[in-house]
Amino acid sequence: MVRAVRQIAVLGATGSIGSSTLDVVARHPARFRASVLSAHDNVEELVALCLRFRPDIAIIANEAHYAALRDKLADAGLDTRAMAGAQALADVAGSDACDTVVAAIVGAAGLGSTLAAAKAGKRILLANKEAIVVAGALLMQAVAESGAQLLPVDSEHNAIYQCLPCPAGETAIGAAARPGVRRIVLTASGGPFRGWSRTQLEGITPEQACAHPNWRMGRKISVDSATLMNKGLEVIEAHWLFDAAPETIDVVVHPQSIVHSLVDYVDGSTLAQLGNPDMRTALAYGLAWPERIEAGVPALDLAAIGRLDFQPPDESAFPCLRLARQALIAGPAATTVLNAANEVAVSAFLQGRLRFLGIPAVLESTLAQLQERGHGDLAFLLDLDARARRLADELTRSEA
Ligand code: NAD
Ligand code: MG
Repeated sequence: MVRAVRQIAVLGATGSIGSSTLDVVARHPARFRASVLSAHDNVEELVALCLRFRPDIAIIANEAHYAALRDKLADAGLDTRAMAGAQALADVAGSDACDTVVAAIVGAAGLGSTLAAAKAGKRILLANKEAIVVAGALLMQAVAESGAQLLPVDSEHNAIYQCLPCPAGETAIGAAARPGVRRIVLTASGGPFRGWSRTQLEGITPEQACAHPNWRMGRKISVDSATLMNKGLEVIEAHWLFDAAPETIDVVVHPQSIVHSLVDYVDGSTLAQLGNPDMRTALAYGLAWPERIEAGVPALDLAAIGRLDFQPPDESAFPCLRLARQALIAGPAATTVLNAANEVAVSAFLQGRLRFLGIPAVLESTLAQLQERGHGDLAFLLDLDARARRLADELTRSEA
């Protein structure tokens, strides 16, 4: 059988998930081709990737760099077409330039392209968890209507996906994939400050927060892992992906990051997916699904690892998990506000303008002061996102 080469748009190609994706793509030239690459504002890195992968289109999100991208591609002798801006990302994600979109942009900035890919019925490898936290209902509706294949690559959700009963040929998304399931259990590494008290967390620097013990990731998700907000965002993500009620999604701290998550069944069985902490496993799974391919990840050596530990999360030292659960129960407007405030607070922390413990404080105040309860379309959510960012920015200045 001759298999068509999958044409892959790697949105956020210069990031941690982007480079892991391209590593897997490069291992399988007969299966995959990177037809579209994007970056935020690093033209040099994007052009270097274009020289290596020869995509049809390169997109720089920051429009101010359009001319530089166009000229450098031409200077390099490439016929890759230069494009720029958020609208270009969405247009290309929904176009014939790709059949698969790896959503690896960080933050709500990835929402437009992820939604466009969903509406156009693409295979979507979802890393960009903020998109589903901001607009879960819209995204899942677009997937259902278009028949898009949504494959979670966040390691926990990918693990759950692999452990759910899935009818042959269908994707394990939504309630239909959960007969006999009692509970979903997300594992959390606990981040670099696991076991620390609130007092010890007082003077944390961005460098300390970004030094994750098990995973090498972008700076924003590294801070989210350190505050446990990453796990809070993942509870919300699991709710939408698997149509799971909040009380059926649990979190357990597992410092070794070997068990990537678990599913409890009503008969007392628990299924887990294990593996070395390397995102290429989840990305290879999503790229080749329903087949399995080599990802460059060594086999697990449990005897060498020796032991696996589990403990409950400490929600008093790390209140972000509780705040995320409360927002999920309050409704979709609250999770949009939560995400926007978190993006603002994390960015302020990374720039040295907010203390580490100021992050949950800003989230709590933003959620208390902006109690929008409505549901709404994309325009409603984007307006709410903008209002929450303005408020969180003001609160950040008074917290600092
Ligand atoms: P990163 O910071 O390493 O990379 C982010 C990418 O997005 C870069 O290519 C950057 O150029 C681009 N980008 C940044 N801001 C942009 C904007 N405003 N518009 C367009 N493009 C923009 O981040 P990462 O660690 O690769 O994470 C990417 C996403 O995947 C995040 O949503 C994160 O939560 C999720 N994720 C990451 C990991 C991981 O191991 N890194 C694991 C699970 C989920
Ligand atoms: Mg994760």
